[in-house]
Amino acid sequence: MKILLKNGSLKGEKNVDLLIENDKIIKIGPAKSITDVNAEVIDLSGLIILPGLVDLHTHLREPGREDAETIATGSAAAARGGFTAVHAMANTLPVADTAGVVEQVWNLGKNVGLVDVYPIGAVTVGLKGEKLAELSAMADSNARVRIFSDDGFCVSDPVLMRRALEYVKAFDGVIAQHAQDPRLTQNAQMNESELSGKLGLIGWPAIAEEAIVARDVLLTEHVKSKLHICHASTAGTVEILRWAKDKKVNVTAEVTPHHLFLNQTSCESYNANFKVNPPLRTNKDVEELRKALAQGIIDVVATDHAPHPIEDKEGEWQSAAFGMTGLETALSVVATAMIDTKLMNWADIARVMSERPAEIGQLADHGRPIAENEIANLCIVDPEMTWKVDAQDTHSLSTNNPFHEMTLKSKVVHTIFRGKLTMKNGQVKK
Ligand SMILES: [Zn+2]
Repeated sequence: MKILLKNGSLKGEKNVDLLIENDKIIKIGPAKSITDVNAEVIDLSGLIILPGLVDLHTHLREPGREDAETIATGSAAAARGGFTAVHAMANTLPVADTAGVVEQVWNLGKNVGLVDVYPIGAVTVGLKGEKLAELSAMADSNARVRIFSDDGFCVSDPVLMRRALEYVKAFDGVIAQHAQDPRLTQNAQMNESELSGKLGLIGWPAIAEEAIVARDVLLTEHVKSKLHICHASTAGTVEILRWAKDKKVNVTAEVTPHHLFLNQTSCESYNANFKVNPPLRTNKDVEELRKALAQGIIDVVATDHAPHPIEDKEGEWQSAAFGMTGLETALSVVATAMIDTKLMNWADIARVMSERPAEIGQLADHGRPIAENEIANLCIVDPEMTWKVDAQDTHSLSTNNPFHEMTLKSKVVHTIFRGKLTMKNGQVKK
């Protein structure tokens, strides 16, 4: 099986033809230089070729909450969004805290075959924050887990966090922290500010995140391990990360598309699709997060795709679940926030949505240079397309997309996963 991509712009830099056979890129040449009568030809004039996107933070909900998402529906949403690899968070039912559960997720992902699904292992048994899970058994399993996280919960006990950081050094693992001091955020509903007072919602202070980020940076430096900060959301977190990177602490961080694009004023609508953990912050925070991503202080974009069925999102703000879907809109939101504003170019997008996430996840076949003999994992983008998001038009089982009815610039049009078109012209194959 061969695919010939004609006249596409490689990361927005130069126009090329690219021939794929089986799972590999076998030839790259100047635009209009390659012909092959046996290949399926796709004209990429005006389109950008990026490496397949890699998500470090996806909630696929299976096993246990198949009413919200399954590995099959989440994989389809990922393929539609241009992803070729996703990391599945551990807060499933049962929790992914044993070799058995991570291998189950790994196998389900392989059977679906639309993206590579890499399970993240829980740090503590049952995400309870009491004792360490079987980290090395998960690392040694067929799923080869390298990232561990209690995401949804913070590993708030500093002794346990220290032990986890020490433990993963044996297999070069990384602890991904959901930085949220539980005592400072009891019953919290939205960013703590004048607005939270006005709306009568309990405030979630920025320092609840920053205090944990600062502590964990120091712990990581002390034990010489590897830390990843999930969904950085405040200007103060950026300052701490800047300091840590200056000191050469081994810390990486992610920001979500929604924290780069939306701010707390969305909560004025009391529409629970804007309720998320960590909460949407101020305009100033959004500005600092964008700058930090452009400067590499924040390493990557991760979606924190968090599907919820409608009954968990309707009704009162206070009782609604936290979380937003995001796989299908991620690239467009990031491009609108970062490219339309001239803060980044397409090569930068390739770095923060594919190359760096693949490095952090230690993935051999993703985020690689687009070159001959590399595995063909590609994401093809129309940079000029303007489109309006319709939350109902989704491959996810859930529709809690906060970008509903918003107009975004640029869209993923084709996805190639291991040499196969998993999505063509917006249509997922399978
Ligand atoms: Zn989280």
